[in-house]
Amino acid sequence: MTSYLPYGHQWIDDDDVAAVVSAMKGDWLTQGPAIEAFEAAVSGYVGAAHAVAFCNGTAALHGAYHAAGVVAGDEVIVPPLTFAATANAAVYLGARPVFADISPETLCLDAACAAEKVTERTKVVAPVSYAGFPADVEGCRRAAPDAVIVEDGCHALGGERGSRKIGSEADMTVFSFHPVKHVTTGEGGMVVTDDGTFARKLRLFRSHGITKDPDRMERPDEGPWYGEMIDLGYNYRLTDLQAALGLSQMRRLDAFVARRRHLAHLYDEALGGLERVTLPPRHKGHAYHLYPVRLPSSRRREIFEGLRKAGIGVQVHYLPVHLHPYYRRRFGLAEGDFPRAEAAYGGEISLPLFPAMADGDVDRVVEALRALLKS
Ligand SMILES: *Cc1c(COP(=O)(O)O)cnc(C)c1O
Repeated sequence: MTSYLPYGHQWIDDDDVAAVVSAMKGDWLTQGPAIEAFEAAVSGYVGAAHAVAFCNGTAALHGAYHAAGVVAGDEVIVPPLTFAATANAAVYLGARPVFADISPETLCLDAACAAEKVTERTKVVAPVSYAGFPADVEGCRRAAPDAVIVEDGCHALGGERGSRKIGSEADMTVFSFHPVKHVTTGEGGMVVTDDGTFARKLRLFRSHGITKDPDRMERPDEGPWYGEMIDLGYNYRLTDLQAALGLSQMRRLDAFVARRRHLAHLYDEALGGLERVTLPPRHKGHAYHLYPVRLPSSRRREIFEGLRKAGIGVQVHYLPVHLHPYYRRRFGLAEGDFPRAEAAYGGEISLPLFPAMADGDVDRVVEALRALLKS
């Protein structure tokens, strides 16, 4: 009996375990010195001036939209082919998520479609680097020059556009450290930015909106205990235990990305000749969080179930957000509204891809897929 192969999985080694144990014996447990070290590691890696850690990627998106100035009645342009959180974070703020279709070539937000959706209320455009393919951040900026560009880079840590790491181009870029993502902290997220004002707003937002910085206080300092709440914030802090894990994982990020690219290349080679299989779009800077193939939609379910039966943990990314009942009801959206995202979803299957996977696992997946396509 061969073992179950998941579609994604973390890779925790002894150094990671030792880093967490050491943090547990320290003085902090919650947000302490490991947070700053982890933030510095990520901002240094991507080439951004600031990084602000959050308790998960969704909270980081919420913080980024808030820092961008999104308030009730504003609009945030997002692609439908993403995890619900990209749109949900706008709804949290009372804003309207405005969907714009994807490019069939990149599977990311099509800047021309985004341009058609821009209004006076557009505060943010949030392209998603789907599967790790670098989204068209520059195109989005041209499409909406007055909006803040927040890249949902949850799939794309370690990827590049040309010579620049993902995280250095958008006004803010959001990462997630969920176990299936490139590096993990269990749950965790981060926003990176070059803008000091955004960074200060993000720090306030993650900790109740309370500041102890005398320069930011609005009333006279009443003593060493004194702190002021100057904005509405949340408890969105990451713990030091998690940050210690993240910092340790960051040391292997380049190796993780290299391994993902190698495995994706093996899939490309093995599946390239197959009729009726559309491979994921290629890009030199692709970070390969996922390896999404597209099949004839009439056969997707049967092939998906066949792969699962063979112990291959495939997944589908994603039911387009506008088709979730909540979004249909609340925003009057329906099937047919975003045909390209719907077509991409209709035949999509994400094949297993994670750094600890063996080359031989790719062969196993390819053989099973070939057999099912033939049957
Ligand atoms: C994982 C993910 C998120 C949310 O991250 P969490 O850490 O799970 O909250 C947001 N957007 C995309 C595209 C993701 O893949």
